[in-house]
Amino acid sequence: MENITASEVAGLGVGAFLVLATVAAPKIDSLISSSQRSSLGMCRKCGDLKMVACSTCKGTGLAKAGGAPFTFLDDLYQSVGGETEVTRVKCSKCRAKGHFHCPNCSKRQSL
Ligand SMILES: [Zn+2]
Ligand SMILES: [Zn+2]
Repeated sequence: MENITASEVAGLGVGAFLVLATVAAPKIDSLISSSQRSSLGMCRKCGDLKMVACSTCKGTGLAKAGGAPFTFLDDLYQSVGGETEVTRVKCSKCRAKGHFHCPNCSKRQSL
């Protein structure tokens, strides 16, 4: 792989990133700053993913009965056999989808 150029490496990286972004959109949402998005010509709110993560359930679609987001720590605790009083309920805010359509992008499309 001696002839590979820096731009080819960058292209591979971007391609892999876009695939990941599509799959894990809500989870990586916070990793991209809005300034980076605007410099790339992407939607500031969603990074052109056309969706934003639900703030109530943090994109999991599940919430605790009390309304707090279900975290990976709760999952970990249960996966090692821990008893927990936490009850999983479907997030009512996003109807268990974990995300919403991006309001910015729906605005742009209607223009
Ligand atoms: Zn939700
Ligand atoms: Zn958007």
